[in-house]
Amino acid sequence: MTTQQDCVALDAHDALAPLRAQFDLPDGVIYLDGNSLGARPKAALERAQQVIAREWGRDLIRSWNTAGWFDMPRRLGDRLAPLIGGKAGEVVVTDTTSLNLFKALAAAVHLQADGPNAARKVIVTERSNFPTDIYMAQGLASWLDRGYSVRLVDSAEQLPAAVDADCAVLMLTHVNYRSGYQHDMAALTAHAHAKGAVTVWDLAHSAGAVPLDLHGANADFAVGCTYKYLNGGPGSPAFIWVPARHQARFTQPLTGWWGHAAPFAMAPDFVHSEGIGRALCGTQPVVSLAMVECGLEIFEQAGMDAIRAKSLALTDLFIALVEQRCGAHPLGLVTPREHARRGSQVSFTHPHGYAVMAALIERGVIGDYREPAIMRFGFTPLYTSFADVWDAVEILRDVLDREAYDIHASRGAVT
Ligand SMILES: *Cc1c(COP(=O)(O)O)cnc(C)c1O
Repeated sequence: MTTQQDCVALDAHDALAPLRAQFDLPDGVIYLDGNSLGARPKAALERAQQVIAREWGRDLIRSWNTAGWFDMPRRLGDRLAPLIGGKAGEVVVTDTTSLNLFKALAAAVHLQADGPNAARKVIVTERSNFPTDIYMAQGLASWLDRGYSVRLVDSAEQLPAAVDADCAVLMLTHVNYRSGYQHDMAALTAHAHAKGAVTVWDLAHSAGAVPLDLHGANADFAVGCTYKYLNGGPGSPAFIWVPARHQARFTQPLTGWWGHAAPFAMAPDFVHSEGIGRALCGTQPVVSLAMVECGLEIFEQAGMDAIRAKSLALTDLFIALVEQRCGAHPLGLVTPREHARRGSQVSFTHPHGYAVMAALIERGVIGDYREPAIMRFGFTPLYTSFADVWDAVEILRDVLDREAYDIHASRGAVT
């Protein structure tokens, strides 16, 4: 049996514990939703003031050069690259995950259409993928109007067989947003390549959550989010990775002026920039983009191996305590127990999942709810303690034991 004292002792020996002081978290809140919107680095407030008051307010348009605004997508990309196993010059922080996925997918389709695999017209993904990924793929397929289609697969076990002679692109989200299931990136990429397909990986729930090695896996393209585990702030720009080996043939349809070889030549014809600049489109939300750096700075003090070790300890503890203390209630573990298959969240079903989560949030335990009946708890080692896990499970137990939830609670637009 794990006790509260055990959890306090784990915190006392946790080398990452001091990093929590770099985040602003309100008193009385146990924040288990950093997988959806990361907490605010304290440094972000000062940085926002600097960007708004000095760079925008005083230096005005000169800041594109003097404050490095124009280079920011590349500079932040270089800083983010080590977290995903990419190299400098292979990542830009720009646009949204949905848009970057569209670009990466278009480039992957083009790579295939331009070679011996031109007859392949199917994009394979999972039905359980985050819907925007499916929608963007469907949108691209229908706009191309050249016979492309999206094939939705029902389970991870069925994926290998779905990558057949018609498959052009295998597009997967590495860690599932709902279940927390983690794919074997290296194995699936090797399988796709052996079958003649190229891969697009969405790292929205992986970057900053689990160690990643895109080069080690020989992946083809990747995109991801900065406002989840990377703590970039609400709606902060996403990232796209194009390895050096694919950059010369990387083309995408959103050929805005930021992707031009000489944007300020103002020429009427589009000429691709060299390198990762090809993934850019247009002017970025500078204030929001600047906040991404504050999150990345904290990661540089930690290292993904230490983060992963604590993440697994936190999620193991949460599963064990829920099973010990809430065992009489109809909770179903959705997230894999096997470490290699688990991201940094734990999902449980409950017949009244929405109402139970609403009651938890009311009491300061902030997770979230995803259809159908799934309560999601995200564990972010930079600012979540073992004592938090204990307290969260105690509150869950109390809410369930006393049935202190309202099954008729009304729902906001965002769950
Ligand atoms: C969070 C998430 C997104 C978000 O896309 P936006 O364009 O930022 O709205 C996309 N895909 C996956 C897999 C996600 O988890």
